[in-house]
Amino acid sequence: MTALRFDPIRLPPECEELRKEVRAFLAEEIAAGTFNPFQPLREDADAREFSRRVGERGWIGMTWPKKYGGHERSFLERYVVTEEMRVANAPVRRFFVADRQSGPILLRYAPEHIKMDILPRICRGELCFAIGMSEPNSGSDLFAAKTRATRTEGGWLINGSKIWTTSAHMADYMIAIFRTSPATKENRRHGLTQFLVNMKSPGIKVNPIGQITGQNEFNEVVFTDAFVPDDHQLGEIDGAWKQATSELAYERSGPERFLETYYVLTELVRAVGPDPDTRGAEGIGRLVAQLHTMRRMSVSVAGMLQAGKEPVVEASIVKDVGTIWEQQLPHRVRDLAAFVEEEAGNRETLENQLNFAIRTAPKLTIQGGTTEVLRGIIARGLGLR
Ligand SMILES: Cc1cc2nc3c(=O)[nH]c(=O)nc-3n(C[C@H](O)[C@H](O)[C@H](O)COP(=O)(O)OP(=O)(O)OC[C@H]3O[C@@H](n4cnc5c(N)ncnc54)[C@H](O)[C@@H]3O)c2cc1C
Repeated sequence: MTALRFDPIRLPPECEELRKEVRAFLAEEIAAGTFNPFQPLREDADAREFSRRVGERGWIGMTWPKKYGGHERSFLERYVVTEEMRVANAPVRRFFVADRQSGPILLRYAPEHIKMDILPRICRGELCFAIGMSEPNSGSDLFAAKTRATRTEGGWLINGSKIWTTSAHMADYMIAIFRTSPATKENRRHGLTQFLVNMKSPGIKVNPIGQITGQNEFNEVVFTDAFVPDDHQLGEIDGAWKQATSELAYERSGPERFLETYYVLTELVRAVGPDPDTRGAEGIGRLVAQLHTMRRMSVSVAGMLQAGKEPVVEASIVKDVGTIWEQQLPHRVRDLAAFVEEEAGNRETLENQLNFAIRTAPKLTIQGGTTEVLRGIIARGLGLR
């Protein structure tokens, strides 16, 4: 059985300096009315200008080479920025996917002139990316994707559809996998290629899908003879299976994987006040202890990435434990809130937040790979299957 290892990493002192800077910046943004910290992930805030200001501060593409507009800072520093943005409920969706995973893919697989063109614009907070993996009949089974890319003069024509594509309605680009050949008997994952798709190209239609939260986070994307030029091919033809799996590792271990409903916990702490009864103190203590442990695991993964390791199993464990925690959190808080005094000053905010968090919760164990599928990956990584 393979050993599981979480290096005992602590955030270095320069991270605490950075944390103060990020907090001060976010406080200014809140004071200026850019976003409301009591309204989690609402994109009605002026997120476009906010993204530019985050870019100006040097907090997008933090770990990338300076040559491409990056800042050559550490994964641990990036961790602190992500954490503070999430805790403040800042509107990060417009730049977050590009920063977390699309940029690193381009760095690795795009031709030089594409990197020089696109990466600096991501770092300036000007571009929004979407991920085109899931299709109507291939979600967990990514390698069953059917949307085709067929050869044409100077590039490829795309036909088919993607689904659940977060931010496609506002994205400038999508990084997607398309079928370029049939699977082979020897390798059922063969035959898919990764491409950079300009979402403004003709032949791409984005249909919003409403969610129970009332938000429109994701979409169906239909391709009809959409043209993708040759230099937008990323990596090996038919070999996307080697690339997409490492992409998912970036997606799985950050603080965003357990902080999506965190605001209900802080609101509960405010509601119970400085002298909670035994039930409240015990309930909050338990939740905070769990959060602290998960955070140490998540920081450890960031530290291992910084050290050049590939903690794929550890990252999957953080996502598994993290999403289950953040999914159960609103229900636990609701139980504890039943005993909060009626006159608690923030009662209305707490009720509104619980209402939103409870409707957010079901998706948490599905996005970024379902819990069951992650456990399969963990079991394989540990040599158990
Ligand atoms: C909020 C949100 C945002 C998303 N954003 C994106 C995005 O931006 N881009 C994108 O490409 N996709 C996105 N997705 C899609 C997401 O990746 C898929 O929904 C997910 O991979 C599951 O696929 P599916 O919905 O087809 O379910 P299925 O794969 O059909 O799974 C159905 C059930 O069967 C179980 N199951 C399936 N296979 C196995 C197995 N091998 N072992 C054990 N159990 C199994 C699953 O755990 C699940 O419970 C998003 C989803 C959500 C909820």
